[in-house]
This record gives sequence, C-alpha cells and structure tokens, in this order.
Amino acid sequence: MSKDYYSILWVDRNASADEIKKAYRKKAMESHPDRHGWDKEKEEEFKSINEAYAVLSDAQKKARYDQFGSAEWNAGFGGMWGFDFGDINVEDIFSSVFGNMGGFGGGRQSRRDDGGEDVQKEVHITFAESYTGVKKEIHFDKMVNCESCHGHGTKDGKEAKKCPTCHGSGYVSRATRSIFGMMQQTLVCDTCSGTWVIIENPCPECRGKKRIKKKTEQSIEIPAGIDDGMTLRMNGEWHAGKHGAGDLYISCHVDQSHENLVRQGNNIHTILHISPAEAVLGINKKIKFPLIGEREIRIASGTQHGKKIQISGDGMPLIGKKWRGDLIITLEILIPGKISKDDKKLYEKILENEKN
Ligand SMILES: [Zn+2]
Ligand SMILES: [Zn+2]
Repeated sequence: MSKDYYSILWVDRNASADEIKKAYRKKAMESHPDRHGWDKEKEEEFKSINEAYAVLSDAQKKARYDQFGSAEWNAGFGGMWGFDFGDINVEDIFSSVFGNMGGFGGGRQSRRDDGGEDVQKEVHITFAESYTGVKKEIHFDKMVNCESCHGHGTKDGKEAKKCPTCHGSGYVSRATRSIFGMMQQTLVCDTCSGTWVIIENPCPECRGKKRIKKKTEQSIEIPAGIDDGMTLRMNGEWHAGKHGAGDLYISCHVDQSHENLVRQGNNIHTILHISPAEAVLGINKKIKFPLIGEREIRIASGTQHGKKIQISGDGMPLIGKKWRGDLIITLEILIPGKISKDDKKLYEKILENEKN
C-alpha cells in the first residue's frame, strides 16, 4: 500500500511549502465528504489527502519521506516512528488550515446546518438516449432566498441582529490537543446554531429560515455513454445557502437493451443468425442494426456456431471521449425447420457424399 503523497496532492516534488498548502486546500475542498454525502470512497480519498498533507507540511517528516521514497517508506520505515497515519484526525487538519472560511461545519454532526443542501434526483434513460446523449427536464424544489424578508428572516425585512457570541460568523474556535500539538478547532456556535444572527421577530413567510422552497425546472444535458448507476454531479447555484450552493446529483437508471442490442459496459452485444450454407461457404452480408445503422459483415467460409465478430468503434460512446466501445456480433447458425423439396434434395446429396 505505497502512497505517493505528491501525486495525491497534485504537486511537484520540489513544490514549496506554500504550494503544498495551496494544493491541499484545493484538493481537500473538492473531496470533502460533506460534498459527497459521506460516500465511503470519497471519505478514503479525503483521508489520503489529509495524510499526504500531514507528512508534506512537516519539514522533518517530509525530509524522511523524500529520502526513502513512497514505496520504501511504507515497506520498511513506516512503523519506525510509531506513527500510524490511519489515526490522523482529519477534521483537525482541515480546521487548522481552513479555520472559519472552510464553508464546512468542521464536523460531521454540524455539516451544512445552514448551508446549501444537495439535491438528489433520479432519471430514467433509455438505451437509445444513452447512445446519443439526451436533454432531460427535471423538476425539484430549490431553496431560494425568501422575497418577503429579502433573505433576512425578519418580519420587517430588515437585517437581523448579529449573534453576540460568534460575532456573526456562525462559528466559535476552541483550542484542542491533537497528535500535531495544540490546534484550533472550529465548532458551530451554540447561541445561533450557526445561523449568524438572532431573529426576534421571524418573517411569517419563511418562519425566520430566510429561504423558501421554490418549484424549479431544469434542463440537464445527459452525456452520451451514460451507464446505469452513474451519478452526475451538477455544480452550481442549486440551493441558496449561507455556505454557498449545494450540488445537484442526478442518479441515472439506464436501460441495458434495445431491440436485439444488449449493452455490456461500453460494448454492445448482438446475435446474428446465419444459415448452414452461409456458414459453410462464407458470405458478405449487409445488416441493418438498430441505432447503429447498416454495416457490411464478412462471414468467413467454415464459420462455426457461436463465432464472434468484433467491430471496433460501433459500441457505446465513452463519456467525454471521442471514441466508442465495440459492437460484438455472435454468429448463430440457424438450422431450418422446414425446407423446400429442392433444398431437401441438396441436403440428401450432401449426406450421400459424407457417407462415401
Ligand atoms: Zn452565534
Ligand atoms: Zn422570509
């Protein structure tokens, strides 16, 4: 389990302390599990980023790490300091760098108390829509600033009183001891519950919440090649919130078949029936495949039942790329049930020849 801390933070080996800190800020913000619904994978990624920063931001540890390299580090020297990276308090590192400006609650319990909430929507996409890409209209409730009180949450629509405890920041700092020494931990203000303000007379429209739900319709561009179970994250002004906007997540349910086409990842599978004569003698056939169009298929003489022909670039598009998967045609020899008198004579002749 060797880790390259430099590549985790996307920095050069000779990056300055300042550059490392900047890179960490960027990566940690992007991968903060608050943004990803505490997805297990993202949580791991976030942990790695913090682990990388814990080492690279410490001159001594960085020197050791540079000297022994990533692989050797873990193989031979990892245990030497009795320092288990798994125990790093991720939230502490995060708060120490971001302080109040992080935009995250600083802890799992307090996250997004007053922030932009993420919206999750599900859409159904047909095979054909995934093949070409499609625009979908989705409807959802969007949180917008209350118009009656101009987003202040007050009955008179004037600015509310700043919370005296946190002085309008929504957070309070507390010094805590951690493996890195004393650290400033950021907590949500108890007095105002992180809302910055004290509202004495709440607005009747939003009941002091400053924001109201508004029915919204949004056109979403679904990229070609989207597959079942994929989630699109639309960044942007989905929800007004104190900490900015939440993200819109589109979970895609995608049909896996269309007529005689079946999808497997980026490849499309189909079955083509051929006659015994075609299999024996070989033939060029023009076949019109649904969605894909007409293709000329070369069936070699002596083709066996179950043989696969692969046409590259005729499968599903790869999202955001210029190429596609393959079309895989399985040839099945179809034995005729009923045959004409003439055909029967021919088969009898073949059988006779086989006996000799
Ligand atoms: Zn407060
Ligand atoms: Zn209001």
